[in-house]
Amino acid sequence: MNFPRTPTSERRSQLAIDGGKPIRSVMLSYGHQTIGDDDIAAVTQVLRSDWLTTSREVAKFASGCAAFVGASHALAVANGTAALQSAAFAAGIAPGDEAIVTALTFAASANCIRYQGGTVRFADVRPDTLNIDPTSVANLINSRTKAIVTVDYGGQPSDLAELLELARRDNLVLIEDASHAVGANYRGVRVGSWADITTFSLHPVKQMTAGEGGVLATKRPDLAARARAFRNHGITTDARERANAGSWVYEMVDLGYNYRLTDFQCALGRSQLKKLPGWLIRRREIASRYSSAFASLAEITTPAVLSDRDSAWHLYAIRLNLPRLRVDRARFFAALRAENIGVNVHYIPVPWHPYYQALGCEKGQWPVAEQAYERLITLPLWAGMTDADVDDVIFAVNKVCDAYRI
Ligand SMILES: *Cc1c(COP(=O)(O)O)cnc(C)c1O
Repeated sequence: MNFPRTPTSERRSQLAIDGGKPIRSVMLSYGHQTIGDDDIAAVTQVLRSDWLTTSREVAKFASGCAAFVGASHALAVANGTAALQSAAFAAGIAPGDEAIVTALTFAASANCIRYQGGTVRFADVRPDTLNIDPTSVANLINSRTKAIVTVDYGGQPSDLAELLELARRDNLVLIEDASHAVGANYRGVRVGSWADITTFSLHPVKQMTAGEGGVLATKRPDLAARARAFRNHGITTDARERANAGSWVYEMVDLGYNYRLTDFQCALGRSQLKKLPGWLIRRREIASRYSSAFASLAEITTPAVLSDRDSAWHLYAIRLNLPRLRVDRARFFAALRAENIGVNVHYIPVPWHPYYQALGCEKGQWPVAEQAYERLITLPLWAGMTDADVDDVIFAVNKVCDAYRI
């Protein structure tokens, strides 16, 4: 996509926030879907067919996802949050149970435990990757602990070997919220077959989209069966299976929900999945352009990727080195926004939200996540960005650093 740009000759060194000319005339968003005519054709074809939901596209999309992520079972659901709740249900979370969840994530990673009546214990993150710290997890495990929810922050896999070791030792279910990480690798193997359950999101800002949508992947047939029923009211056979069997009989065995994804959304998902490998390459390319461009900027720290894994680059989150700047994150952020660079912040620590505060989470218990939060800024990153878009972001970050350097 091409946005109108301000000619280089007209870019002043005066910051747009102080009345100067912005780097761009239209905001560059931090994330954006990529939709082609092939995607539109795939959706239209289903819209013209007899089955809009519970049909072949759903099954084809699910098996395509299972193959891509290396899981034996994959399930398409209404959204990434529904995938997480289905995971919490499949893991058997119930009142009295505890789950350990990373503090630095989107609220849904923790909320899924609350939906099922469980208690959330937040763990701190590692200072380098901002992924859950296995040591912090180990300190929170007790006799009520039933699951660990880890998030692959920004797209980089968590410390899956260490987390699996803890889970196996105490018979816990490891749920990997891989909403950021479709296509990422850990020790040469794609995310999707490591944890007991891995979930993905198909929201438009993620690497691929179905409008809304989510995917749950697992190797375990018992967990897959429980999640499958949960998606459909807790009923053990779906409408299509009944139609094929010529039978009206069905059994509702658990309290499930309607978390199904439609066939036209799955057609979009399937069409997007074909293009995902190319998009992942483009995301990596953009991330490495940012990292080389910012390598010598002392005012910011770029994301660190450990050598035994690679990132699917959902987010490119920089951290400001505040002692080198005469402004705080809020001002730096506002200055970039004024240049029409659509920056964001991922995330306000989840235990800081009023809902979790009311449940007794007191600030100060997650020093690494809390201190990182004060410095984080997410730069635009999506597969459809042009090289000129990337240059604008680099130019803007340099411009703001120059203005606010001590
Ligand atoms: C996007 C996201 C979700 C939720 O996905 P939805 O599809 O919007 O429900 C959950 N966890 C994380 C970490 C996410 O980034």
